[in-house]
Amino acid sequence: MIIASQIKNMENMEQSCIFCSIIAGDVPGEVVYHDDQMVAIKDANPQAPVHVLLIPREHNLESLNDASKLDVSLLGHLLYTAAKVANQMDIAESGYRVVINNAEAAGQSVPHLHVHVLGGRHLAWPPG
Ligand code: AMP
Ligand code: ZN
Repeated sequence: MIIASQIKNMENMEQSCIFCSIIAGDVPGEVVYHDDQMVAIKDANPQAPVHVLLIPREHNLESLNDASKLDVSLLGHLLYTAAKVANQMDIAESGYRVVINNAEAAGQSVPHLHVHVLGGRHLAWPPG
């Protein structure tokens, strides 16, 4: 059960969250796709010629670590949409990578779950 103090914490996180600010329209973002569940924007510091972030509208998952069975549909939607956006950005055939950084060692810098879609160049494996 979610208690009032947890709701307050979530509100505070949303207020200081760059992705929530972009989704609210308070901070500019280059939107390439959106639907009722998520928004896709160009990454401000692209690591490849195409670098898009798929961001759920709701700030209720900081990372995959917070996901429960209730989130399975959203998570599936994000992956399905990653392929759609890759197609839209013309990198589906040449190839692309879908990445979710989770917590510190993976380099997650924004604690609002998001999916990176990267392409438009050769992507080395293993990743750094
Ligand atoms: P991560 O390190 O996986 O948490 O990814 C966060 C990503 O958000 C990074 O690739 C940043 O370049 C990107 N980012 C941070 N601020 C902005 C912003 N205002 N607009 C677009 N992308 C951003
Ligand atoms: Zn947020």
